[in-house]
Parts: sequence; C-alpha cells; structure tokens
Amino acid sequence: MIDTHCHLTYDPLMTQIEDVMRRAAEAGVDRMITVGTSPQDAALAADLAAQRPQVFATAGLHPNYSDQWPDTAALTAALREAIARPKVVALGEMGLDRHHADPPIDVQRRAFDVQLNLMRETRLPGIIHNREATADTLAVLRDAGIVPSRFVFHCFTGSDAELDAILEFGAWVSFTGVVTFKNSATLLASSARVPIDRVMIETDAPYLTPAPHRKVKVNEPGYVVFTARAMAAQRNMGETDFVSAVDANAQRFFGLP
Ligand SMILES: [Zn+2]
Repeated sequence: MIDTHCHLTYDPLMTQIEDVMRRAAEAGVDRMITVGTSPQDAALAADLAAQRPQVFATAGLHPNYSDQWPDTAALTAALREAIARPKVVALGEMGLDRHHADPPIDVQRRAFDVQLNLMRETRLPGIIHNREATADTLAVLRDAGIVPSRFVFHCFTGSDAELDAILEFGAWVSFTGVVTFKNSATLLASSARVPIDRVMIETDAPYLTPAPHRKVKVNEPGYVVFTARAMAAQRNMGETDFVSAVDANAQRFFGLP
C-alpha cells in the first residue's frame, strides 16, 4: 500500500532510513511519497527517490517556512530545478496556516502563488497544507484557474462544514493517523463521508503516530496501515477493499506508475 505523505528526509527518519524502509516493507507499504517542504528539502527528497524504487518525491515550500524565500524569482527557479528531477510527482506542500502568527499571511500567500503558477506550468497536482484557514485557502484555489481535482487537502482535521466546502469545490481529502486517536471519533466519522473515489491516506511521518503506537514518538510509513484499518472499519468496508480503493486513488492523482 501507499503512504501518500511523509517526510523521510527529516532527521528522525533519515538517520534510520534502512530500518524505516524495512519496517514499511514488512507492513506491506511498498510505495511512499516524501514531501518536500522547501527547495533544499525537495532536492533531498528527489535524491532519496532516485536511490529507492519505492520512494517518490514532491517539491514545495511549506507556508511555515515561506519567509525563508522572500525573492519570488529565486523561489520559482529553485522549485523549477527540483521539479525537473525524476520521480517528482507533485507541487507542495503549499498553502495557508493561521495557527501560527508568523510568517504573516501575505508572505505565505506569495509562496503559495509561486507554487500555483508552477502547477499551471507543469500540470503537476498540488498538495495543500491548510491549518485554520479553509475559507481563505479555498478562495485562493477558486481564483487559481486550475481544475479542482488537481488538489488534495492533506491531513484533514476540520469540521464537517469545512469538509463539505472542500468536497463541493472538488478537491481530494487525505487523512492521517489523527483519525485513530481516542478523542477523534467525530473526525473518523467525517472521513467516511468523503466519497470513496475522493479519499486518500497518509502518515505525515515523523509526526502524528497513530494508535495503538502513540507512545512511539517518531511516526513512520509502515504505520499507515492503522489509519487504513480504522477508516475501513468506519465505512464497514473490508480492509483489503479499502486499501485497493485508496491506493488506486493515489496512483491516479499522483500519476504513479
Ligand atoms: Zn507534511
């Protein structure tokens, strides 16, 4: 199965990458997309993808780091270079984050716009990071002139009203191990409201370790099976059927071979 969003380049995973990959294989996770959160990180992600058949990469600038690239032209050039590497399958993660006061929203917006431009240029799909900014993010996407089905809202944890707005717009929705948490019954129920042909799953590793392994501080791609299990059960679907559905979705969305 596929982990559609992880950060293998981050230290807690990179420093034990052999073990992480072995445990993923043992869990049946045979493909994973490592998401670049800056041009530098995207280059590392592309390196990893070049070395390992089961890894694919993306290139983006996370809104929380958007102030590190104030020069729009330089950011565009650096991301273009990353996208040109083999096995880079998407732009992002990109978007808006109102959870932290910094960087200011106009700085986040500038980095977002650069990546939307590159989506238009390359026709790659885009991974959206949205934290407490659903209405603003959807407004930007509506104005972007890109087909809504080219976007996935990753790590969805919002309300049903926000979920409805995203689905009505026409984007995909991806869930992490947060749906397995004891206090996440509402979110798990929401996940079952997403049409089966519009839903994806991910770990966002090294963050957000799913139950029953929450005591393990460092999440990893192999644990995506616990998210699949919880979401399948919530839908009264067999785990195998659910996994083949979400894998087919990821394959189609990201154009995986
Ligand atoms: Zn992420």
